[in-house]
Amino acid sequence: MQRVLRPTLLLAALASLCCALAAPASAAPIPTRLTHETGEIVPIPAAIPHEEGDMVDRRIVPNLRWLAKRFPIYVTDGYSGRLPGGRGHAGCRGCHVKNSDHYNGLAVDIVALGGRGGCDRAWRGITRLARWAEPRQDRPRGPFRWVGYDGDAGHGCGHHLHLSWEHAIAPMFTLAEWVEVFPVRRQGIATKPKPKPKPTPTPAGEPSGLRPPKGPQGGAGAEATQSGGLSARGD
Ligand SMILES: [Zn+2]
Repeated sequence: MQRVLRPTLLLAALASLCCALAAPASAAPIPTRLTHETGEIVPIPAAIPHEEGDMVDRRIVPNLRWLAKRFPIYVTDGYSGRLPGGRGHAGCRGCHVKNSDHYNGLAVDIVALGGRGGCDRAWRGITRLARWAEPRQDRPRGPFRWVGYDGDAGHGCGHHLHLSWEHAIAPMFTLAEWVEVFPVRRQGIATKPKPKPKPTPTPAGEPSGLRPPKGPQGGAGAEATQSGGLSARGD
């Protein structure tokens, strides 16, 4: 489904180029790839600020590292469900909707690192991240499947940001066959590269189009314009 949407996103990106002065935050597609590496639910590394015990599918860890270096994120929940081998349970119980991407380890809930309550200054970086991942309401850029923030009930500045990664359809509490990610170098995870289109050459190990938007943000919160008919949200 995501593939089908891409041409539309591309057109939207081209259109936004024409109006670059009016739209400072680039909506250009983020270069992404599908990883078919074997998934595994693993603890979130210390380099990514998070709540004790939080876990995710290892295939999104490089992306989380990249985000943690650029945005003041603090992960409050990742994988939610039982762990194999009688290792107990990870994540928040009863916090997520049915078929949430949290049940596949491919979603995180994020708050502002150093936030002191409410939508304070600490959240500016989280708002930048949300707008980077979803420049227009309900039009997340790949690899993100669903972005929950301002305009989405139970999400937003001062509450939390939800990010899901696009993935193969998978039942709850199973690992998806593939996950869409943005390529990040020096993470040691892509040990078995698959034939895939090469992303645009990039300086300094950063995929083009991945630079976070800069500058102060306007006050125009995204309005909730939920378009029906989409698959279940991943929150
Ligand atoms: Zn969530």
